[in-house]
Amino acid sequence: MTTPRRDLLAYTLPELVDLLAMYTQPAFRAKQIYRQLYVNLVDDIQQMTDLPLALRSELAQHHAIGSLTYVRTVSADNQMTHKALFQLPTGEQIESVLMLYPDRATVCVSTQAGCAMGCTFCATGRLGLLRNLESHHIVEQVVWARRTLRSLQPSTAHTAPTQADASGDDWWGNDGGHPDALPQHLGNVVFMGMGEPFANYDRWWKAVECLHDPNGINIGARGLTVSTVGLVPGIKKLADAPYPINLAISLHAPNDALRSSMMPVNDRWNVDELLATTRAYITKTNRRVSFEYVLLQGQNDTPELAAELADKLQGMLCHVNLIPWNPVPGMPLGRSERQRVVAFQRVLQDAHVACTVRVERGMSIAAACGQLAGSVITGP
Ligand code: SF4
Repeated sequence: MTTPRRDLLAYTLPELVDLLAMYTQPAFRAKQIYRQLYVNLVDDIQQMTDLPLALRSELAQHHAIGSLTYVRTVSADNQMTHKALFQLPTGEQIESVLMLYPDRATVCVSTQAGCAMGCTFCATGRLGLLRNLESHHIVEQVVWARRTLRSLQPSTAHTAPTQADASGDDWWGNDGGHPDALPQHLGNVVFMGMGEPFANYDRWWKAVECLHDPNGINIGARGLTVSTVGLVPGIKKLADAPYPINLAISLHAPNDALRSSMMPVNDRWNVDELLATTRAYITKTNRRVSFEYVLLQGQNDTPELAAELADKLQGMLCHVNLIPWNPVPGMPLGRSERQRVVAFQRVLQDAHVACTVRVERGMSIAAACGQLAGSVITGP
């Protein structure tokens, strides 16, 4: 029986240095490999022509590049949104979404196949947890995004990314775009696809380290955003993390009765505990936190609930993203009408709570928030 070849995307740079030491190779070879993997985006070890032929052959005996099987991509928004479906070696499927704007590119990646959190409005939640992704499965989704972005450029010439490409607080954006105005580099990665990143913390964080490494993909910390359903231990752990990446918390309701009816996780960590942990996180890191609030018609979108939310968030260094719910086939829920969204936003703004409405990308291809896994379930 042959041993499966290990994915080179599974190595952090220090791990690669250790691997090369086993081949009695100097440490600088690790940086060469990182550059080939993440800047030149090679998909075959033999394409690493700056490595000695013998080393390439030795590496290729036990290693490969990538392990996801690409199933299909669908595009929308005038070719500015691309959703890819991948299959893991163990058969489960995951999705990633690349969103292009004139001044930046953002990829939304999955951290688990399926999800155990069971949020009632989310397509992924219907799958249950199928498996945790390994760090290299997460990294490979970003490599796919970089390759896609490169393939869309009028010229195939490419250069190393700079962390200045990261767009900071405006990490999702609300503007449209045109294919003639393509960003050069992928500056933002949001961990908001399928799964709960903090339920797969160590593998997810290893992927973060790889993506952040200046010798590789080089995404600045401000270009990395993790979204959690509110796993308190994960928020506490992130407060001690070495890079100041952005934190987004899915809140969706200001009180326990409503939140528990939408998000079973609230029975474990309720609104007060979640917000107290968030305040402690902000105090410790001095970083602004985003709250995601999916608006469901007649459920959590009344002015009274907006006032309750504003009250709970008073004085907090935060920002609220209002997200009119994106329809998922078979879910008997409604997307809030525009005037209800505007009224909700006005209450928050009048109470001096920073707040924007996210205009979704990819709704027509089930690539918007909460829709991922729709195609896994229902097919194209
Ligand atoms: S919203 Fe996020 S945490 Fe909730 S079920 Fe969906 S993927 Fe899981």
